[in-house]
Amino acid sequence: MEGLVLKDVSKSFGNTRAVEPTDLTFAKGELTALLGPSGCGKTTLLRMIAGLEEPSRGVIRLGEDDVTNLPAHKRKFGMVFQSFALFPHYSVRENVAYSLIIDGVAKAQAFEKANELLETVQLVGFGDRRIGELSGGQRQRVAIARALAQEPEVFLLDEPMSALDAKLREEMQVELRLLQQRLGITTIVVTHDQREAMTMADKIVVMSNGRVEQIATPQDVYHRPANAFVADFIGKANFFDGVYQDGAVQVGDCRLQAAAPFQSGSPVKIAIRPERTCIDEDPGANRIAARVMFVRDLGPLREYHLQSDIGPIIVEYAAGETGPSLAKGDATTVRLPPEALQVFPGVQAA
Ligand code: ATP
Repeated sequence: MEGLVLKDVSKSFGNTRAVEPTDLTFAKGELTALLGPSGCGKTTLLRMIAGLEEPSRGVIRLGEDDVTNLPAHKRKFGMVFQSFALFPHYSVRENVAYSLIIDGVAKAQAFEKANELLETVQLVGFGDRRIGELSGGQRQRVAIARALAQEPEVFLLDEPMSALDAKLREEMQVELRLLQQRLGITTIVVTHDQREAMTMADKIVVMSNGRVEQIATPQDVYHRPANAFVADFIGKANFFDGVYQDGAVQVGDCRLQAAAPFQSGSPVKIAIRPERTCIDEDPGANRIAARVMFVRDLGPLREYHLQSDIGPIIVEYAAGETGPSLAKGDATTVRLPPEALQVFPGVQAA
């Protein structure tokens, strides 16, 4: 069966277009991350899927069913909010059982189901505690258990980790992903954190200004970004503006070899990841004189910040990799391997 499908779905608030007309398919059993900067429309998109916001246009289908006009409580999609939205005066078990009891399930049966779910999220023995007696990570697990109580076909999470500290967040990302894979539940996670998206997702939907910029696996959005926005938003990249000219890009006085399907004279933007950029004396194309401005040793990797003839360049070496030994002020040569360059359309000069 097909999963969740959005056809031409858009949303405007007055004159603000929060989500441009969008087609998306969320495959059954997959975890999709909606990723983008603040204000790009990802929460609005999730809220339309949840039934908490009415689309201005378009159709939302779950399998064969059109759910566009179905109210949120009838969709029975499990939802976890940024704030977790738990009831502080209820016990953990009561929080998890709440929606079942509201739906008319007998209390004993609802509590039995809640106990099973607490086992699923590794909170056995916490059922009688109040929410105030839990850590952030434990609260999040209660919110997840509560959202799963009605055995939803779709599980929606809006910035589920943002209330947690960095270390716990990483642990919970792995835990949530393992749980989602075990249950095989179609899941959509809104996040502005690319590491979170890359840790958990089968597919990432990168958004900006209400538009979908790319839909791809985590590897593809990183290694094969669709455009300069994605290359910039996901990971780090060095960028240079130039003009494509017969198999090479002219950047200032430098001519950089780069394969790209552009017409001669087209303005282009080049991107290269810091770890694909080299500092070496090897012969080869695209060698540029540079000077070390700053060295940053981050433990697992060392970053060289250089000023070159075509602008600032960052070069990254993993610990254990044979890299150069340079200090601030040293003169050196940077190489931009042609196969590591990504060339995107640039902005036409006015
Ligand atoms: P964040 O990461 O900051 O939560 P987001 O990507 O989730 O951002 P949305 O909350 O979907 O973005 O907002 C998208 C755009 O729609 C923004 O310009 C926002 O100001 C606007 N917007 C969202 N909700 C409303 C509303 N109820 N009324 C008017 N404008 C809104």
